Amino acid sequence: MKTTVNAATPIEHPHLDALDHGLLRAVVRGEARLTREQGLDIFNRMPFHELGRWADARCRELHGDSIRTYIIDRNINYTNVCNARCTFCAFRRDAGDADAYVLPKEKIHQKIAELAAIGGTQILMQGGMNPDLPLDYYLDLLASIREKFPAIHVHAFSPPEMIEFVHFFGPPGATLFEKCRWVLSKLRDAGLHSLPGGGGEIFAAPVRRKIGLGKCDAEAWLTVMYAAHSLGMFTSATMMFGHIEGYADRVHHMSLVREWQDKALGGAGALRGAAAGGAGALGEGEAQHFGHYKAFIAWPFQRENTPLGRVKHWGADPAEHLREFPGDVVARAFAWGANPDVDHRDPGEGPAEFGRRVRMSGSSDYLRTQALSRLFLDNIYSIGASWVTMGPHVGQMGLAFGASDMGSVMMEENVVSSAGTTYCLDEAVLCRLIRESGFVPAQRNNTYDVLRVHDGPSSPDRLVADWSEHRATRMHQEAPRQTKVTIGATK
Ligand code: SF4
Repeated sequence: MKTTVNAATPIEHPHLDALDHGLLRAVVRGEARLTREQGLDIFNRMPFHELGRWADARCRELHGDSIRTYIIDRNINYTNVCNARCTFCAFRRDAGDADAYVLPKEKIHQKIAELAAIGGTQILMQGGMNPDLPLDYYLDLLASIREKFPAIHVHAFSPPEMIEFVHFFGPPGATLFEKCRWVLSKLRDAGLHSLPGGGGEIFAAPVRRKIGLGKCDAEAWLTVMYAAHSLGMFTSATMMFGHIEGYADRVHHMSLVREWQDKALGGAGALRGAAAGGAGALGEGEAQHFGHYKAFIAWPFQRENTPLGRVKHWGADPAEHLREFPGDVVARAFAWGANPDVDHRDPGEGPAEFGRRVRMSGSSDYLRTQALSRLFLDNIYSIGASWVTMGPHVGQMGLAFGASDMGSVMMEENVVSSAGTTYCLDEAVLCRLIRESGFVPAQRNNTYDVLRVHDGPSSPDRLVADWSEHRATRMHQEAPRQTKVTIGATK
């Protein structure tokens, strides 16, 4: 099975109506690219089920009609100490807090051993941005994982962590790109395989300035990923929406991912061009081995226990329905990034309520956003459904709205569960959700190669005799299920 998209960039047709069926058929075939305006138009105007059908058609074009995938991995949050103060975060702690922690290496090894015992292939390791941990902590940790668990893929350290590593470790280099590349190559040589797309949130500067206090900006986030791509590493991209942003900000976010993916797929030539602008240069040998974004995963903001969650919901006051959402007004003034310094306090540019009202996302808004991402991101291979935040059945619906991947059997999750989301599934349930959607479940690895296709009678879901005793459960309410994830032994 191929695990990339076509390298040729599809052509834009800005004069066509976004809902033109000829345009959409060409998008499905990978021959036309949506403009940002068309993307926003589709989001705003296309009927819900029609949007799902177009996204599904594009997904089938890329992935066929048979297999939909999942991965068995484990989230390991090695520290919750963080010097940023994102307003949407319920996970971070200050170093002196009673429940602040840094996991000892032995504890991390134990968690990986538990993962390996159930057939897991990957750890997703992220933490807060902890200024007390030196580079040697990470090098030693990675080397020890590689030595003890050579078959486990280490998917770790999101771009904001990487930017803080640059600040903490003072690497050599004239540009941010070069500094990131230095840190990344050290970590890669010690055992880091790929980078998760955490910390993407919403790239638009007015939104990011409000919600990501102390976190890197979009340019830095994208530069980290590009530096990883230049080293041949694969990464994912994410978006957290459904808070203070305008709908156009979601499309703007996707457009930056698409643009930088073009650069990565363009590989060495693009980097040489960028080098002229100071991004850095590659040796001839290195230039042959570019990585890129493998997947895009979007999920809605979870408000419980977060400072941002205490902000009033837009529309709580009925009179607000008569006005435009402040995030949409500011997004228009932001003008797809042409006016990055837009000041919402200026009555000419945006209402003072910007950032003081949240527009939470529900199921249909989530599915709409995911479906648009499948149509818009013509150069990204996989779109992941977020059952962790939306629940198993909305995640399952995601497979009919452009998603080709159900994400992970969630053995452990600490970040969104801190913000009130508590779903936990085992492999049999995940397989059943995929099969009930009309597809064959298949376990994949980090690079989206299929490891096992579950089309036989011993598939995890087919070993379950009584589904009434085998439901998706809520993590923390049924604590034993957190570590009792089993393969096959599901009767
Ligand atoms: S989201 Fe991440 S970077 Fe932001 S405060 Fe929480 S742990 Fe820190």
